[in-house]
Amino acid sequence: MSCLKPEGREPLLAKHGAPDFNAFDVMQPRAPGAIPAELKNGGRVKSNGAAPAGVYLPNNNILTPAMRSPDYVQMSTAAAITLGVMPGKMHRCSCTRCLNLLLTYPEGCRANCAYCGLARHREAERDYADRNFIRVDWPAVPMAEIVEIVAKDGDKSPFHRMCISMITHPNSDADTVSVLKRWTDRIDPSAIPISILSNPTTMARSDVANLHDLGADIFTVALDAATPEIFERTRGKGVQSQHSWKKYWEILEDARDIFGPQKFGAHIIVGMGESEHDVLSLVQRLVDMGGHSHMFCFFPESGSLMDHLPATPRDQWRRVQLGRYLIDYCGVRVDAMRFDNHGRVIDYGMPKAELDAIIDAGIAFRTSGCPGKFADDISACDRPYGDSPPSNIASYPFQPNKKDIAKIRTQLAIRKAH
Ligand code: SF4
Repeated sequence: MSCLKPEGREPLLAKHGAPDFNAFDVMQPRAPGAIPAELKNGGRVKSNGAAPAGVYLPNNNILTPAMRSPDYVQMSTAAAITLGVMPGKMHRCSCTRCLNLLLTYPEGCRANCAYCGLARHREAERDYADRNFIRVDWPAVPMAEIVEIVAKDGDKSPFHRMCISMITHPNSDADTVSVLKRWTDRIDPSAIPISILSNPTTMARSDVANLHDLGADIFTVALDAATPEIFERTRGKGVQSQHSWKKYWEILEDARDIFGPQKFGAHIIVGMGESEHDVLSLVQRLVDMGGHSHMFCFFPESGSLMDHLPATPRDQWRRVQLGRYLIDYCGVRVDAMRFDNHGRVIDYGMPKAELDAIIDAGIAFRTSGCPGKFADDISACDRPYGDSPPSNIASYPFQPNKKDIAKIRTQLAIRKAH
């Protein structure tokens, strides 16, 4: 098994005459189709009724066992390989430093986000436990087995952080608490800090406070869309989904108050129709609140409502990656940068020699996320190839080497000063 997958959908190439950014008008999701009544709410799985039996590897069969949190969680292919519950190799990476756990239910996520492989509309064609998400499969593993392995590894654990990712489900809030307690009953949260990737739609301020009191270290909100219009089109009424921009910001502000500076943040997907100025202004807003941004490059997930759309051109992505790093970690402000009339960055507001040094350091182009134990600006959550194929890497899940940096410089169109 491998986290590498053959993919044909590459970003448009500016040099072939295509625009070097994904414009709003282009990035229109498909409308969700009708779902046969017998397939709604995990109907096929429930009618089969097979009992869970240990680790479940996606696509082992069609009728998945009735696995459900908090007894079961799903984890990324990379986390399963690192934990040792699945064989496999990762291109140019030995392991992932974040054990990302995803709540799971036969009826799945009840939301319908247009870019997401877990979305509700997929009930029509694929059982929940078999759905691809951020380009990889997510095996389902008993929570007791995970805790047993990590507790036994003790100081030798490869994991620098654990993250519980919520989905939109009526039991999600209570089960996040149960999963957190099962972990902290055996594993010291100061040894392996815990992040929560929240689902604001079902949450109240008291839920945020409760997770903090139970030992969570960082709380993030998967805002994903960079503007209210894109949020509504990809996560709200535009795709018959229940999320609202306002509610997401309410919970983000609760997290700021409860978790405090540097301990909260938001996920943003770049290239869904926002301008570079839009997304970097959002990054600035988060920094001004005391938080961080964690970024993905849009990739057309197979089976999603946006799988017909182009991946984010690498030049757009690199400009935003670099701008985000400067704002998040180098004290540059978005208003010191200059943008063209399409909102593209044309000046990073930093002397050339300093900019060169930051590009050459390469950290700006690594996967962003909650920190591990190496440095504040190096993410534990490296999500290998979650936002691109390894043949054309968007977020580097390892330190880019000289050849990688040369490629990045070409994508940025920034030559090194001599
Ligand atoms: S709420 Fe999260 S898991 Fe559910 S469809 Fe939206 S992005 Fe996917």
